[in-house]
Amino acid sequence: MKARDKGQVKEIAEARIRKLFEFAKEEARARPELAKRYIKLARELARKTQTKIPQELKKSFCKKCGLIFTTKSRVRTKKGLLVYTCQKCGEKRRFRIIRN
Ligand SMILES: [Zn+2]
Repeated sequence: MKARDKGQVKEIAEARIRKLFEFAKEEARARPELAKRYIKLARELARKTQTKIPQELKKSFCKKCGLIFTTKSRVRTKKGLLVYTCQKCGEKRRFRIIRN
């Protein structure tokens, strides 16, 4: 595979990953199991194509159980860190708050 083709594959993969996350967000409340499936597919796609999941999307789900964070997820800000607590497994994720 040529380097250019590889770049194209990643571009397409990233677009698909974004789409899957969109679907997951739409289904997060009504059908969380389906949302989890979309996340799983997106992560598999990222792994297979060695594409990085965009940073802002990475922040939107629980790495442990794959549940997408909704507004119900507990969010706390602590010393410039954003802390999400997963409603399902209790996993905490911390993110640095980026200020422009
Ligand atoms: Zn979780």
